[in-house]
Amino acid sequence: MLNQEMRDFFEGILARRSNEYRVSDEDLASVEALCGKQTAIRTRLKDLLKLDAIAAEAGMERYDSEGHVAKLPAPTIVVNERINCDGYVREHWMMEVMPGIHMPLYVLVPDGFNNNKKHTVVLAAHGHGPGKDGTIGNMPNPIFGQINRGSSYGEQMVKAGYMVYAPDMWGFGERRVLDRSQYGASDCTKLSDAAEACGFTLLGLFVWDHMRIIDYMMAQPYFGNVVMMGFSGGGEQTIFTTALDERIVCAYAGGYLHQFKGGMLYNHMCSCNFVPGLFRDMELSDVAGLIAPRPMLYENGFQDGLNGEGGICNVEEAADRIRKVYAVYGKEDALVTNFWDGGHQYNGSKTLDFFSTNAQLG
Ligand SMILES: [Zn+2]
Repeated sequence: MLNQEMRDFFEGILARRSNEYRVSDEDLASVEALCGKQTAIRTRLKDLLKLDAIAAEAGMERYDSEGHVAKLPAPTIVVNERINCDGYVREHWMMEVMPGIHMPLYVLVPDGFNNNKKHTVVLAAHGHGPGKDGTIGNMPNPIFGQINRGSSYGEQMVKAGYMVYAPDMWGFGERRVLDRSQYGASDCTKLSDAAEACGFTLLGLFVWDHMRIIDYMMAQPYFGNVVMMGFSGGGEQTIFTTALDERIVCAYAGGYLHQFKGGMLYNHMCSCNFVPGLFRDMELSDVAGLIAPRPMLYENGFQDGLNGEGGICNVEEAADRIRKVYAVYGKEDALVTNFWDGGHQYNGSKTLDFFSTNAQLG
């Protein structure tokens, strides 16, 4: 069975992983032991994503000597357009995230927003599809309105009174490699190949851009705190960015929690998920455990094909491991799950309550 040989080859590598960058029972013995392991995992993850190489290319120091995200000057922006929508104003911006690299984004400002008060600001990451248009429910093409199936969580949040930043990542929306590329598709494979051949990773570039948006937010008079949210590929960006950027106070990730072991060979996932060396060193639960003790909401449908070979059991295994990390901090309640009877689609039934409870300004 030649196909079995290959499966055994990769599964054997994961089965033989050491605990060097994995949370073990010993690490769960005390807060002190756990913090030490989390620092080691975070440092390794930053290295695997090549964030230091990206920072060097940008001419910036992204992390301080203790491995924490450093404060960087706000990137420059240009506001291109302001459109009045139902209950909010939609601005179209261009932000220079590193010298010569420009990221388009929508900024949604709710009616009655007071620039002189402190607010919780939402960073809304898109999944695979039309990019930021999908996040905010701006659907010039009705086909993508159907595909999106109500996952315009950016719009949901602005209508709940939050200011929302919704960017286009590398290869999506207005940032396609070819100007005349098909609307709604993405260039992850092209860009991932190019990034890795140049010593970067595409997921690292995504995380970099999100961190630069937070640099911008923090320099604004209305900034109180920042939360992040995303579904599917947006869930991926949310977990990795929140794990590596402790400035995010709490987050939602939908349609993404699983374990690499059950998903590596069996899920049809995009190349932006595959970071060289990542699966050999850690599990997704180890990455997500870095978010603890900050509050986190994970949402998965029981029938989501991206749950991995074991289905929802694969997701629950990840959640159980993450829950043990929260328990060490005495913060089991900060881990919230919404596993529901559905497929790969946004549900959102716990999202507003979760953020209103956990993103409160002191
Ligand atoms: Zn992708």
